[in-house]
Amino acid sequence: MDSCIFCKIIKGEIPSSTIYEDENVKVILDISPAAKGHAILLVKEHVANVFELPAELAGKVFSVVPKVAAAIKAELGCDGMNILQNNGVEAGQTVFHLHIHFIPRWKNDTVNIKWAPLGYADGEAAELAAAIKARLV
Ligand code: AMP
Ligand code: ZN
Repeated sequence: MDSCIFCKIIKGEIPSSTIYEDENVKVILDISPAAKGHAILLVKEHVANVFELPAELAGKVFSVVPKVAAAIKAELGCDGMNILQNNGVEAGQTVFHLHIHFIPRWKNDTVNIKWAPLGYADGEAAELAAAIKARLV
């Protein structure tokens, strides 16, 4: 993808503060961090989002997550961490090359990842679960 900024970072055409790299992923510090130490894991293969990610590659990619999270936590001394991933404009995705955010969290910090909890009508959750389950076989 010639125009993709993350492909350019992966190829080294755009500089980045890299903290980890292997054959499948490159992990860099986010240029506009939500918190100090905010990192993003870039999947080296250009896939736009999780809906394009082959399951076999997903396993290799996610196997890196615990050690990167532990290294960031050890260095920053944060109390917690949000690990999240946006798919699609409506979900907040702005760069359409699959990436995973690591956002260190401290008590009373300024990061805001919240939603207003909804509910289900009687029987609605069971019906919905069955419908989604039917698509997984
Ligand atoms: P998302 O909204 O999930 O697509 O996240 C895209 C992230 O990429 C944002 O947090 C940006 O700050 C980050 N970003 C964009 N350009 C760069 C860059 N050149 N180097 C590092 N991070 C970047
Ligand atoms: Zn790309």
